[in-house]
Amino acid sequence: MKIVIIGGGAAGLGAAGAAKGVDPDAEVVVYTEYEDVAYSPCGIPFVHGKEIDSFDRLFLATKEQYIQSGIDVHYETTVRSIDRAAKTVEVDGEGAVSYDRLVIAAGWNYADPGVPGTDLSGIYEVKNIRRAMEWDVVLDSTKSAVVVEAGAIAMEMVTALVHRGIEVTVVDPGPWPMADVIDPDIVEPVRADWEKLGVKMLWGHKVTELGGGTGALTHVETTDGTIEADLAIIGTHKVPNNPLAMAAGLKLGTTGGLVVDATMQTSDPDIYGAGDCTEIPHGVTMIPLQGLSGSHAYAQGKTAGINAAGGTRDYRPVYVPWGMLAGEWMIGGVSFGETLATALGLEFHSATAQGITRARYYPGVRPITVKLLADPDELRIIGAQMVGGEGIKERADFLAMATRAGITVEQLATMENVYSPAIGALNEPISVAAQNLLASL
Ligand SMILES: Cc1cc2nc3c(=O)[nH]c(=O)nc-3n(C[C@H](O)[C@H](O)[C@H](O)COP(=O)(O)OP(=O)(O)OC[C@H]3O[C@@H](n4cnc5c(N)ncnc54)[C@H](O)[C@@H]3O)c2cc1C
Repeated sequence: MKIVIIGGGAAGLGAAGAAKGVDPDAEVVVYTEYEDVAYSPCGIPFVHGKEIDSFDRLFLATKEQYIQSGIDVHYETTVRSIDRAAKTVEVDGEGAVSYDRLVIAAGWNYADPGVPGTDLSGIYEVKNIRRAMEWDVVLDSTKSAVVVEAGAIAMEMVTALVHRGIEVTVVDPGPWPMADVIDPDIVEPVRADWEKLGVKMLWGHKVTELGGGTGALTHVETTDGTIEADLAIIGTHKVPNNPLAMAAGLKLGTTGGLVVDATMQTSDPDIYGAGDCTEIPHGVTMIPLQGLSGSHAYAQGKTAGINAAGGTRDYRPVYVPWGMLAGEWMIGGVSFGETLATALGLEFHSATAQGITRARYYPGVRPITVKLLADPDELRIIGAQMVGGEGIKERADFLAMATRAGITVEQLATMENVYSPAIGALNEPISVAAQNLLASL
């Protein structure tokens, strides 16, 4: 059994390890265009912001460890095409390479901002760790930066740039940060925090040109005028990287992601897909979603690798727990907020509770807001939004599971909770939000 994997990110390496776990004798070959595998890109903004002192800390395994585990990684090697009839991939410097099973885990790219000037120097797409190391040196002498659209990674970069003493302007066509995902009341503390830190924000405005006479960025033209800047961070949404799959005639969905079944098999039974190049149905609406997170990519990769090697595992529709640090705040949620649910035409009831993360007298106590959305018929949880000083991740994970299990508002209103001064308050804000929702009805 020879399994070829295109991609050395979370999905590709998840697939490689899982395939070896099922069939230790399988020949597993991974192709990546990058210089490294097994590093966490998620930590890059925090090295830029100096919360983490070195890029070295982001490497999770050595190249030697992959050799020892029998995974043959080909670095800086591009796969050019897939020949499904011959069951080969065309690889730079290697020619036609055969496979029994192929896993496509080619990931994502930032959406093209679609404006002139993207070829100038001074334009940074935060992704590859080697490039991040080079850009980190540039940040030392950067005075002003424009963040072109406030996607999740860009939001982390805003804080990082502020920590580096760089003057930051965010330009985003939405009315507030991550407007497609977050509700305005939830993100307001973050916006206010940024304002306090001196971040300039142009909501409802677009970048129209990245400008610079001598090949380097000097200014950014927007629908609200010109901004002098020596750096632009591209923070547009993620698009699936699927030119190979498309040229090979594999079925792509409405998002441009590879269509896969529950086993992560594509429209070709010998080819699996995993990670941000695929699309996955949402558990409540069954609408396909693309560009999920690294944890989704890794789990999908494992599913694809297990099945490609002859094992059995299913990947389920997703409920998308998410969370992140944004300045002084943590924000997060599950599935939909009110804005997205309304845009999707979903009917819902919602209610919010303000709470605290520890006993009110315990040092470090922070406020937390929880908003719950429930379907109007059976009052099952369909979404949540949260902002607070801590404790967002655990609540998002719990509420995603509650959504998947069909838990109702009545059940959450009477849930038990941990009370211990240093880690939790007497009243759990999830439960209070559920009680408030029932009271409002
Ligand atoms: C700065 C940053 C912060 C992030 N923060 C978080 C976070 O906080 N939480 C979280 O869950 N996720 C985070 N992510 C993860 C991210 O959002 C994605 O979900 C994740 O990278 C998807 O993994 P993937 O393996 O599908 O794709 P990718 O990571 O994009 O990997 C794609 C791989 O395919 C290879 N490839 C593509 N085309 C070819 C080809 N033709 N030939 C050979 N190789 C090819 C690439 O070289 C690469 O190895 C972050 C990512 C970045 C960059």
